[in-house]
Amino acid sequence: MKVLITGAGQDSSLTTYLHLRRGDQVYVLTRRRADGLTDQMRKVVEVLNESPVFIYADLTEYENVFDIVRELKPDMIYHYGAMSFVPYSYNNPIYTAQVNELSAYAILEAVRKHSPDAKIFLPASSEVFGKPVEYPQRLSTPLAPVSPYAISKVALLYIAEYYRKVWRLNVYDFVTFNHESELRGEEFVTMKIVKNLVKKGHVVLGNIEARKDWGYAGEYVKIFNRVMENEEPRRYILCTGVIASVKDFLRYVISKVGGTYEIDESLYRPVDAEGMTCDVTEVPVKPQYMWWDVADIMIKYVRDGTLTFPEVLGKV
Ligand code: GDP
Repeated sequence: MKVLITGAGQDSSLTTYLHLRRGDQVYVLTRRRADGLTDQMRKVVEVLNESPVFIYADLTEYENVFDIVRELKPDMIYHYGAMSFVPYSYNNPIYTAQVNELSAYAILEAVRKHSPDAKIFLPASSEVFGKPVEYPQRLSTPLAPVSPYAISKVALLYIAEYYRKVWRLNVYDFVTFNHESELRGEEFVTMKIVKNLVKKGHVVLGNIEARKDWGYAGEYVKIFNRVMENEEPRRYILCTGVIASVKDFLRYVISKVGGTYEIDESLYRPVDAEGMTCDVTEVPVKPQYMWWDVADIMIKYVRDGTLTFPEVLGKV
């Protein structure tokens, strides 16, 4: 099987691992970086001692992206490549739309014209609910985005629906709640807390009353794949169903590794999530890893480099 994965961050790297391990041909479309691979991809290549084929292109070079998909004719496409940091999107709305939203058209148009049987994964985000009108959120909860990032993800949901309904393409779009792993970058609050407390014994944070539903990304990418292999193309929702505040996560990590924290109000966001979790009766597969498991996995990794994803996705 030929698999195309866009992006080289956490989910792209974990999915690359999953498919390479199964013996699939994996192509990763990513920007060329002066310093080589992302840390996440480097880990995957090290563990497997095998590399995907890297195709270097920027997602906003739409013609290139179209041509790559046309020539490759992949059986499966995971379009993870995105500008995924919410605060950055407030000051860069146009760029966010170009990367996150318009690139999806380039890929889907190429699929529609040249490989209409391909299965395509489009990741949306719980951010599409904005300040949610109901708790927990469901597939039927009204979309109410409050950042350019969230707006780009709402667009993806409509793009998915359009290509499914009008062109009968096999598009799977997932409204996914936060999912973290040992491959998470430090710009996200979970890894920021763990790294700073383990290494410096102190962390400076913004709004710790924000409440999130954190799952384990290794498990989530496995679920994405399982659904694409076995279920019909439609919109899905995925969360653990367990909500925690940043403060809960922080206190848990402090109870394990010690340390102190302080609040810096300049790190507050203009709008923040108050209670993002979904109705677990609607998830296709119920996750087993809860937020405290994710914290343990991150602590183990930061302390001594232990990787958990190979166990979850299948050892080499
Ligand atoms: P996101 O849900 O994809 O935006 O993931 P983040 O990990 O960036 O943020 C999770 C939540 O943590 C947000 O509601 C933030 O407001 C809150 N938060 C509190 N302090 C911090 C901080 O220092 N850094 C980040 N990134 N988030 C913080």
